[in-house]
Amino acid sequence: MTVHAIELRDLHKYFGKNEVLKGIDMTVEQGQVVCVIGPSGSGKSTLLRCVNLLEAPTRGKVFVEGVEVTDPDVDIDAVRRRIGMVFQQFNLFPHMTALQNVMIAQQRVLKRSKREAEVVARDNLDKVGVGAKCDSLPGQLSGGQQQRVAIARALAMNPSLMLFDEPTSALDPELVGDVLTVMRKLAEEGMTMLVVTHEMGFARQVADRVVFMDGGVIVEDGAPAQVIGDPRHERTRAFLHRVL
Ligand code: ADP
Ligand code: MG
Repeated sequence: MTVHAIELRDLHKYFGKNEVLKGIDMTVEQGQVVCVIGPSGSGKSTLLRCVNLLEAPTRGKVFVEGVEVTDPDVDIDAVRRRIGMVFQQFNLFPHMTALQNVMIAQQRVLKRSKREAEVVARDNLDKVGVGAKCDSLPGQLSGGQQQRVAIARALAMNPSLMLFDEPTSALDPELVGDVLTVMRKLAEEGMTMLVVTHEMGFARQVADRVVFMDGGVIVEDGAPAQVIGDPRHERTRAFLHRVL
């Protein structure tokens, strides 16, 4: 039996009285790339953050690889270790080199030796094209290079799935392509990815499915050519009209 990589069942999230997720049902299969699009404030980040319990869902269930992470008895640290997350802001430690940034969680969380962590870190920095920048501090790197270090840091933990929250939104336009290229390569290698993005070209070319959210609900969920190319709902059309 194959288990879903991610399954959300009737997920609700309130901040106080503000219902931000209003009953989300969705699945991501192993090896799939699913892009989430939608206007600012529609609940995309909250949805992503509920998958690894950076936000606690108010109601409903979240399963990651068949394990119910909303079960109060679950070992949430063990679940989080399997999930890599990349944010709009890269959140690198400014006083540590790129190499140290990619080593630290391996040593602290996975208890890898310094030597092993360094080998894994160099491999992953090479993989994302910043192997020559191992000894640079984040402040000496471009935004695109910093974001690729952040991706290498996530990959060094051997995640079985990756969450990306607008990974290119803080970048100068000319640096976006390098980061998307790395993400495309990851997708081709079979990584399961849930990606909040405004990059419609990436969504069209790389995603297996595109999910359009508005006002805390999923309005449309389907193949990229359908959701982006031939949207069924007026709200999707209006959104695409604004961003395309
Ligand atoms: P998106 O990522 O689609 O822009 P978010 O998930 O960030 O949307 O936010 C959805 C709504 O939830 C917004 O109205 C936002 O103000 C609210 N919200 C998000 N995080 C919090 C929080 N920690 N506390 C209170 N309200 C929040
Ligand atoms: Mg957001």
